[in-house]
Amino acid sequence: MSDLDPVERERYARHLVLPEVGDEGQRRLRAGRVLIVGAGGLGSPAALYLVAAGVGHVAIADGDRVDRSNLQRQVLHTEADLGRPKTASARDALAARNPHVQVEELGRLDATNAPATVARFDVVVDGSDNFATRYLLSDACVAAGRPYVFGAVHRFQGQLAVLGLAGGPCYRCLHPEPPPPGLYANCAEAGVLGVLPGVIGTLQAAEALKLLLGLGQPLDRRMLVYDALAGTFDELALERDPACPACGDAPRPEALVLPAESCAPPPISAAALRDRLAGGSPPLLVDVRTAAEYARGHLPAALLLPVDELESRLAELRGRGPLVVYCEVGGRSARAAALLRAAGFVAVADLAGGYLAWRAAGGAVAR
Ligand SMILES: [Zn+2]
Repeated sequence: MSDLDPVERERYARHLVLPEVGDEGQRRLRAGRVLIVGAGGLGSPAALYLVAAGVGHVAIADGDRVDRSNLQRQVLHTEADLGRPKTASARDALAARNPHVQVEELGRLDATNAPATVARFDVVVDGSDNFATRYLLSDACVAAGRPYVFGAVHRFQGQLAVLGLAGGPCYRCLHPEPPPPGLYANCAEAGVLGVLPGVIGTLQAAEALKLLLGLGQPLDRRMLVYDALAGTFDELALERDPACPACGDAPRPEALVLPAESCAPPPISAAALRDRLAGGSPPLLVDVRTAAEYARGHLPAALLLPVDELESRLAELRGRGPLVVYCEVGGRSARAAALLRAAGFVAVADLAGGYLAWRAAGGAVAR
């Protein structure tokens, strides 16, 4: 590792005077590689502090765009970033903070790319807000032998733990079964006090720095629980489950199933859609059936965009506000809604029962 140059010595002076960090520790941070998943409420402070601290390579994985409702807590982004990919907004903010750090932009992680991606990093900081991503990252960290810095926030409470360390639990040990669909407690739709992810994301950065420096006691086999209303930090003991399919004594990779669409809201009913269309800012209706079906009759003002063409025509929908997709009976539209959410559209609903339910409910029809 090369010596720190004079500018680095000046920038990191307050680290260098700590005997526990010093010159060697700072060079260790410079050689460090951290993957932050999610450039949102947790990922924002985590990334800001890790970059400020001089972690040499920080990657941000996120498939979303900046939305005004993010700004209450996602302090990496500003009003000027609305509509931009979050990774681009994050990269600009982080590069301005510390030009010595390499910031890598990554898209959304899934089962096909997560294992190889995670293996390229020393530490993974999870700033996601859904169960599927947590299982995905935890499994990839166990497989690659990387620490998984878990954080979560809900309303006025936050949780933090370092999982996947040798002998310690992984995320599946804590949650062997995903929560039932319909329980969206950790998803984007739930409320959270804006500062709360700031507290937990900052603590995630502290754990990542400790791991890179080999300092102190990681939050291993314990969960820190912060209650902002009570003003308390509590600690829960965590244990590895020897029968865990990921980290147990006899791993069963075939049992590592990811919960599907844990954050997807339930479909909208025909009656609820009629109310929304009559309201002040009606959603854009997207008919994902075939052109022939559309010609036989469709919802007034609906845009025809057959599900098979959706992926190649996403640009036509960007920036057009909330979307409601429908098909004939509800199957294709559920697929379309999942595809749109995966492509970063945040306000997407699909019509329960499709065009037939709409007609049965007496909804207006155009031809
Ligand atoms: Zn486990």
